[in-house]
Amino acid sequence: MMDDSLFERWLRLAAVRVAAERVRLTELDSAIGDGDHGINLDRGFAALVARMDAGEIDGGSGPALVTAAGRTIIGTVGGASGALYGRALMRVGEVLATAVADAPDIAEHPDAWRPGGDDTADSAIFAVALEAAVESIMRLGRSQTGEKTMLDALAPAATALRREADAGQSLGAAVAAAAAAAEAGAAATIPMLATKGRASYLGERSIGHLDPGAVSSAILLRALADAAAPS
Ligand code: ADP
Ligand code: MG
Repeated sequence: MMDDSLFERWLRLAAVRVAAERVRLTELDSAIGDGDHGINLDRGFAALVARMDAGEIDGGSGPALVTAAGRTIIGTVGGASGALYGRALMRVGEVLATAVADAPDIAEHPDAWRPGGDDTADSAIFAVALEAAVESIMRLGRSQTGEKTMLDALAPAATALRREADAGQSLGAAVAAAAAAAEAGAAATIPMLATKGRASYLGERSIGHLDPGAVSSAILLRALADAAAPS
């Protein structure tokens, strides 16, 4: 279900999951990077939750919250992933805000989130948002799939979400398929040779390890799927 509280439920759940996986993500980054990925992301999500708790997010709980999350992540997460995730979240917030603005009933009720009024329209909106996130990461990272990065989880997730949305699936089902595709995509980074980011410095020695950013992307999408699941 997409409603006012979806974004807040997603980001809070993501923060809990990132904190729980912090050591594992950092270990993955120790193997092929500099060992800070879990620490970086946890710092960012903890800062975001603190800002939410303190009521410091302008624009409340709608798409503006996702944009604010992106800004917070850029400001608090060091490393490549901070810039990439931050910019991607800001793009997602922008796409969702446009969808809200385009929905006629929203103009009169700016706090309500009812774009298409039905769950299928929500799936289509999220498909556009995830595609925009992937594009922004490709542009900023000058990267493509197959280079052993977060894109190897996010791009298949966007493809799956688009397929499910086009098939008329509900948001919960569509995002669950996207999360499963991200998890499979992350696992598929093991045999890949890294050609972008720090892991690329290792050359052939990057082969045989999971990419930490692909794993964190799968965690973020699984949190979204769980937040969107009908309760
Ligand atoms: P850093 O490498 O600066 O220490 P992190 O450890 O937080 O940053 O994040 C590393 C992750 O960022 C990698 O596992 C990879 O998924 C992702 N990444 C790095 N460079 C790129 C890029 N150019 N395009 C897409 N993703 C990238
Ligand atoms: Mg790192």
